[in-house]
Amino acid sequence: MKRIAIIGGGISGLAAAYALEEKRRSGTPVEYVLFESKIRLGGVLVTERVDGCLVEAGPDSFLTEKPWAAELCTKLGLGDQLIGSNDAQRKTYILAKNKLVVMPDGLMFMVPTKIMPTVMSPLFSVKTKMRMAAEWFHPPRKASADETVAEMLADPLLSGVYGGEATQLSVRAVLPRFADMEAKHGSLGRAMLSARKKMGSASKAPVRPLFSSLKDGMQQLVDALVASLDPNALKTSVPVELLARELDRWTVSAGYQSDQFDAVIIATPTPAAAAVLQGADQALSNELRGIQYSSSVTVTLGYDDQVRRALPPGFGFLVPRSEGRRMLAATFVHNKFPHRAPADRAILRCFLGGARDEEILQKGEKEIVQIVRDELEQIVGPALRAEPLFFRVYKWKAAMAQYSVGHLERMQRIEALRLKHPGLALAGNGYSGIGVPDCIRSGTEAASKILAEMGMWSAA
Ligand SMILES: Cc1cc2nc3c(=O)[nH]c(=O)nc-3n(C[C@H](O)[C@H](O)[C@H](O)COP(=O)(O)OP(=O)(O)OC[C@H]3O[C@@H](n4cnc5c(N)ncnc54)[C@H](O)[C@@H]3O)c2cc1C
Repeated sequence: MKRIAIIGGGISGLAAAYALEEKRRSGTPVEYVLFESKIRLGGVLVTERVDGCLVEAGPDSFLTEKPWAAELCTKLGLGDQLIGSNDAQRKTYILAKNKLVVMPDGLMFMVPTKIMPTVMSPLFSVKTKMRMAAEWFHPPRKASADETVAEMLADPLLSGVYGGEATQLSVRAVLPRFADMEAKHGSLGRAMLSARKKMGSASKAPVRPLFSSLKDGMQQLVDALVASLDPNALKTSVPVELLARELDRWTVSAGYQSDQFDAVIIATPTPAAAAVLQGADQALSNELRGIQYSSSVTVTLGYDDQVRRALPPGFGFLVPRSEGRRMLAATFVHNKFPHRAPADRAILRCFLGGARDEEILQKGEKEIVQIVRDELEQIVGPALRAEPLFFRVYKWKAAMAQYSVGHLERMQRIEALRLKHPGLALAGNGYSGIGVPDCIRSGTEAASKILAEMGMWSAA
C-alpha cells in the first residue's frame, strides 16, 4: 500500500484527493491523508445564505470554456445542478470620467472584433481608436520574448482599464492564447474575428453561457467533494510545518505529530509551499517564494426592490485605476445569476484590494463598507444612499497569484528542481492558471503524476 500526503484542502487539494479516491475505490493499492490548516475545507470557496440571498465569499462561477470544473461536477453527480450565467443580460460597464459607459458590442475580452460599435463608443479617445485601427493592419509577427499584458493589449487596448497592474503581468502566462493568436494573425482583432467565424460555421449548437456555476453556489462543489472522500483521511486544523525526505520516504511534520508517506502533493499557495519545503530544498523554496500574490476583499451588499429598480441592467462594472476609486469592480449578482436573489432583492458584490491596495486589508469591516457605499452612491446615483439590508465582508490575504513577466521561465526552473525529488508534486493557483477549473486540473494532474511515477496510473 502506497501512502500519499496532500497538503492544503482548497479546491486544488480536494481535486487531488478525489483523483486518488477514485483510484483507491477501483482497487489501486493507495491511501491518502489530506492536511488542512483551517477548520474547514474548500479554501476560498465559501457560500453563505443571507436573507434569502446566496452570497459567494470567493469565486462565484467559472469559465464554461475550461471544462475541468464542469467535468468534476458531473462525476460528482452535480451535472443537473450546473447553471449558466444569464447572458441575455450580459452588459458590462466601465467607469470613464465618473460615468458608467457600456463596453462596446463586439469587444471580446477587450479586443474589438466589430468596427462600428468600437468607433462609435465614447469609451475610447480618437487617439486610441486610431491605434486600434493600426493594430488591425499589423503584419503577422513573431512573439518570442515574453511581454507584459500592457505592452500587448493595454497599449492601446487595455490602457485606462486595468491601470498599472497590467504592466507587471506576463502575457504568455496570463493570456497564452492571445500571444499565439497575435503571432499567427498579426492583429488580435483579426484573430478574434477569425475565431468567431470558425465558431459560427463549426456548429449550429446553441452558444454556451460564458460563466457556469452551481445552483447552491460554489460551496456545493466543496460539499460534494468532501462527501465523496474517506472521512478518516481528512485532517482539518492541522497546519503542516515541514517536509523532510529520507530513504525514499517523506516525513510530514505538523505540530507534535509527524507521519511518513511515499509521496507528497503540496496544494497550497506558493508562499506556504515555500515554507514547508525550506528544509528539503532551499533553491526550490526560493523559486516558489518568488511568485507574488495579491490580496482581495469582496463586499456583498443586499438591497430592496427600490435599489434594484434604480440599478442599470447588466452584469456590473469595472473601475479603471485612473478613476481614483478604491473599488475595482462590482457585480450585479441578481442579473448575472437571477435565482441567487428573490425578485425583490438586489445583490451587489464589490471587489477591492489588488496589487496596489494591500492597505485595505488593515481596515475594519465598517470602514470598508462605508468606502464601498460612498463610492456606489457616487458612481450609480443617490438611490445607493439607501441603507443595505445586509452586508458581508470577506478578506482574502495573498490569495491571488500574479504571473509576472518571466513566470514561464520560473515554472521551468521549478519543474527541474521538483524532478530531483521523487514523490513530490505541486498543485494550486500559483503555477498554470488561477481560476477554479485550472486549479482542479492542477490537482488532478498532480495525483496522476504521482501515481504514474509509482507505476499505478492508467487513464481508464
Ligand atoms: C475573492 C476571489 C474571487 C475569485 N473569483 C473567481 C471566480 O469567479 N472564478 C474562478 O474561476 N476563480 C476565481 N478565483 C480564483 C480561485 O477561486 C482560486 O485561485 C482557487 O480557488 C484557489 O484554490 P487552491 O486550492 O489552489 O487554493 P486555496 O483556496 O487558497 O486553498 C489552499 C488551502 O491550503 C491551506 N494551507 C495553506 N498552508 C497550509 C499548510 N501549511 N498546511 C495545511 N494547509 C495549508 C489553506 O488553509 C487553504 O485552505 C477567485 C479568488 C478569490 C480570492
